[in-house]
Amino acid sequence: MGAMDRYPHLFLPLDLGFTALKNRLLMGSMHTGLEEAENGFEKMAAFYAERARGGVGMIITGGIAPNAEAGSGAKLATSGEAAQHRIVTDAVHRADSDVKICLQILHEGALAPHKSCVSPSGVKSRISAFTPIELSEDGIEKQITDMVNCACRAKEAGYDGVEIIGSAGYLLSSFLVEKTNQRTDKWGGSYENRMRFPLEVVRRIRQAVGLEYIVIFRIAAMDMLQGGMSWDEVVQLAKRMEQAGVNIISTHFTWHEASVPTIATMVPRAAFSGVAGRLRKELSVPVITSNRINMPDVAEEVLARGDADLISMARPMLADPDLVQKTLEGREDEINSCIACNQACLDHLFNGQNVSCLVNPRACHELELTYEPVIKAKKIAVVGAGPAGLSFATVAAGRGHDVTLFDKAVDIGGQFNLARKIPGKEEFSETIRYYRRMIDVHHITLRLNTEVTADMLRAAGFDEVVIATGIQPRLPEIDGISHAKVVSYIEVIKGYKEVGQKVAIMGAGGIGFDVAELISHTGKSTALDIDAFAREWGIDFKNHPRGGVTDVEPVVVKSDKEIYLMQRKATPVGRGLGKTTGWTHRLTLARRGVKMINDVDYLKIDDEGLHITIGGVPDILPVDTIIICAGQTPFRALFDDLKDSELNIHLIGGAYEAGELDAKRAINQASRLAAVI
Ligand code: FAD
Ligand code: NAP
Ligand code: SF4
Repeated sequence: MGAMDRYPHLFLPLDLGFTALKNRLLMGSMHTGLEEAENGFEKMAAFYAERARGGVGMIITGGIAPNAEAGSGAKLATSGEAAQHRIVTDAVHRADSDVKICLQILHEGALAPHKSCVSPSGVKSRISAFTPIELSEDGIEKQITDMVNCACRAKEAGYDGVEIIGSAGYLLSSFLVEKTNQRTDKWGGSYENRMRFPLEVVRRIRQAVGLEYIVIFRIAAMDMLQGGMSWDEVVQLAKRMEQAGVNIISTHFTWHEASVPTIATMVPRAAFSGVAGRLRKELSVPVITSNRINMPDVAEEVLARGDADLISMARPMLADPDLVQKTLEGREDEINSCIACNQACLDHLFNGQNVSCLVNPRACHELELTYEPVIKAKKIAVVGAGPAGLSFATVAAGRGHDVTLFDKAVDIGGQFNLARKIPGKEEFSETIRYYRRMIDVHHITLRLNTEVTADMLRAAGFDEVVIATGIQPRLPEIDGISHAKVVSYIEVIKGYKEVGQKVAIMGAGGIGFDVAELISHTGKSTALDIDAFAREWGIDFKNHPRGGVTDVEPVVVKSDKEIYLMQRKATPVGRGLGKTTGWTHRLTLARRGVKMINDVDYLKIDDEGLHITIGGVPDILPVDTIIICAGQTPFRALFDDLKDSELNIHLIGGAYEAGELDAKRAINQASRLAAVI
């Protein structure tokens, strides 16, 4: 079956009148940090050109500011700056002249991270450190003029169009909502007046760029704010935008300050597309939907349902630049899926680090991390088929080396086989599926159920040996640690040991939180059930009250267990979790009644329970089960046996360093070694 038979909607071109998109998949806007990096334009050119070659119909760049007050990052306001952007647009069009690239104009308004940020009424956002300056009427005119100028410079730079972001709490959206727009002049008050600013921006941009230029408006179709936009207001704005001359409406969900997750891994795939579908029925211009659409079959379903005309994927294009091409060629099982972890993309962005991807460390490093074919193939043994061993084997064999991959377990995946059992982390199975397929594609010899010993390796004549044997859980030295109440997280996740009604979790790192999620969870995983997700987060998709959430109480099922999640540090529990997702885990567990306790000292374990001090005050937790999640140490038995051998040995992943090890570091380290070996 051809691609058009398998994906009749996805590969249908979209006629915009003066131009056409070759398919329905676009790369959504995502700030990468390359915008401000040294040689950033060359790096962006390589990054976007690789995605263009990979088959997307259209690319929207990361947000670019129209002036200094709009943000602290890259700006486009002059012809000199436009000339630099040419490097990017030329590279994309050279890669595939049918691919369109549009510049996102981002005016961050009150969220711009500096003292001269501006907003309609000077209302400070709860997620910003700065109180914005209230715009005068002249100031408003200046912002419009600057945004129009930015669009003209984008055209001069060779972009095929612009996307104007009117959502997320940025400037345009802050005019729409009463909470942030308390003006009494013609720019505030009635909804007609509150719409004036975004409408004027779009109307004047259209006037300046002419009719034959793509103009996209990104609307907050459900802003997730208490007292946010009503459905009627969303529809009214979208219709007026149509009249003002946009070619495409792109739906966006949530303001950054809202307390509802919209892209984390526990959000079901395509959870918000139904909202886009309702809006599409009201409009005649094409509608884009986005959020947690990471595989082509999901995209096709959304289009077939009539929920959208176009699918935006941002993070999935970091994870696999060839997603579309693989889909076209019927190689969907070779797609390296985005698992929505945010660990190397959004967490990096909000920590001021360069964006990349946990499952694809080449993302945003295209010029520096390359996987060149080898001139002379080596015979390489890889011991351990966890994320580190798998990524090493895939890259090394992909370059042409002769790789044998060993694991003592019955299957590949290492600790990802535990991670994927946690409710809300089902996407981790996709990574295992990807590597399983890579083993076939790259003809890696796989030896499961094989505990490798030093003697085996010495006898086998390998040119290189890569030890990726992972970690062993740390067992704290506490009086009574061998008591029958004590179990390991592995035994709990695998279901080997029963967990009682009163439970203490010793250690509140990533795994402690995951275990608390597992044992406090009831019903279906929110990642697999939109209704369960909506109930848990207080979203009313059906009636769409203001913001989708106004006065909707989250329905949280309290855990029937009494659970204590503890750490020794005096810092708030969960502070070390991912910046963009940690809050969801803390909030969920707190709502379920899990007691999170810091500043704990563990004294002993006996029949009475766990003896501790909290802030120096003695206490006894009369628990039935104590689950140890106290971090890990490298598992290096094999390495130690081989240390003095003649073999060329390399140590990667948890076996190299277990402290603060995560899959991001394991895959990155392994891929970088495999790129040069
Ligand atoms: P491992 O995954 O431990 O793999 C080591 C492999 O070596 C194992 O398969 C083992 O069987 C094999 N092995 C050992 N000795 C031998 C031998 N002598 N012969 C043959 N085979 C051998 N990380 C994140 O980044 N994000 C997350 O959200 C996340 N969630 C997690 C949730 C849970 C519940 C757990 C347990 C871990 C999670 N992690 C997460 C951590 C992540 O899984 C690890 O950092 C990662 O698996 C480490 O990779 P590795 O390849 O070094 O080791
Ligand atoms: P971790 O995040 O380092 O947490 C270890 C926990 O154990 C901490 O709470 C630590 O807190 C405690 N601890 C350390 N030494 C101890 C000791 N001797 N006695 C008692 N408690 C001790 O490690 P992890 O939870 O094992 O996770 C392993 C890796 O997987 C981490 O890198 C983590 O980021 C990653 N992971 C990530 C996610 C995610 O969602 N991103 C999920 C799961 C795992 P105190 O020292 O304060 O007691
Ligand atoms: Fe997706 Fe995680 Fe990669 Fe971000 S880091 S693109 S969320 S897989």
